[in-house]
Amino acid sequence: MSKFGDFGGAYIPETLVPAVEELQQEYARFSQESSFRSELESYLKDYAGRYTPIYHAKNLSKRIGGAQIHLKREDLCHGGAHKINNTLGQALLAKRMGKRRIIAETGAGQHGVATAMACAALGMKAEVYMGSKDVERQRLNVYRMKLLGADVIPVKAGSRTLKDAINDAIRDWITNVNDTYYLLGSAVGPHPYPTMVRDFQSVIGEEILEQMGVPDVAIACVGGGSNAIGTFHPLYNKSTKLIGVEAGGSGLDSGLHSATLSAGRPGILHGMLSYLLQDDTGQVLETHSISAGLDYPGVGPEHSYYKDSGRVTYSVATDSEVADAFTTLCKTEGIIPALESAHALAEAIKVAPTMKASEDIIVTLSGRGDKDMDIIRRYYEQN
Ligand SMILES: *Cc1c(COP(=O)(O)O)cnc(C)c1O
Repeated sequence: MSKFGDFGGAYIPETLVPAVEELQQEYARFSQESSFRSELESYLKDYAGRYTPIYHAKNLSKRIGGAQIHLKREDLCHGGAHKINNTLGQALLAKRMGKRRIIAETGAGQHGVATAMACAALGMKAEVYMGSKDVERQRLNVYRMKLLGADVIPVKAGSRTLKDAINDAIRDWITNVNDTYYLLGSAVGPHPYPTMVRDFQSVIGEEILEQMGVPDVAIACVGGGSNAIGTFHPLYNKSTKLIGVEAGGSGLDSGLHSATLSAGRPGILHGMLSYLLQDDTGQVLETHSISAGLDYPGVGPEHSYYKDSGRVTYSVATDSEVADAFTTLCKTEGIIPALESAHALAEAIKVAPTMKASEDIIVTLSGRGDKDMDIIRRYYEQN
């Protein structure tokens, strides 16, 4: 059972053990195979649009003062976010493993759309579980998934949101292990998912090293933690200061946030031991964030390990800091960031003035903000 210090592992029901073990073996095999790697590389290049550029945000840097702020433009990936790096990798793996169907679960719909895209490109069928409340709230993404050939399965149990969709997807996987691949959307879940998703997202950090050398500071937002771990892992043994930014929501004291590493404690959720937002009796807490993609009560186990070891610093950005960072980037650079990515930007705006003009910050701009127009408009109507 592979672990990050005490964190990670595979805390799963007996019925899932064969499926998870098969995945471990097959991933270990294919990830070493040069034909798998070169096929994935060609999809990342010609389909997803990699390399993504690094943009020196000169106007923003000048406005803020201090260090130079650079943006790793994952917002320019096909689909508008880093998620396609992972869905292409896993869909290709599923195909090599001879699986016929791919299942996934989605909250706001972004991972569902990225899964539907990768499956269409690779000629596979995707079925996406989604809480029926989310289906109503995210009609546009539901329509996108259907256009892309995926089936969306509304889940009417419980709170009718992501948590319930995950339960149904896992139940499906247990029932249909032989021909079904479960495509997880972040660096979470039982081993080998956190490692596998990290490997597929590490293309971000590897490109950063190639494109700009070793940056002084690297900053990324943390929901489940996949864009952050993909940024940090290749920089782990370098001198770069690494900062992960969680959703501070209305502030840590308000209880309305998703700051798992800053305000949680270790527990078990979705097959992994990791930091978790929970009450005194171990009940998982409701989360809040201005950005749907950071709204998760757990976090990838490798981040828990990095936090406790002190290699990575984890901070928070509140909704109002995020809204400020969002509009500042729009106005200074003509780039509309995803609200998730604006958390990382908010931290860069705090850190840059404490640094020298000769120093460099890289911010992973995990996605574009077109999806967030309604949310930001309503936020400014109320604030
Ligand atoms: C989904 C998403 C995130 C959060 O996921 P991680 O696994 O933490 O990277 C961040 N940014 C964008 C744009 C997203 O779509």
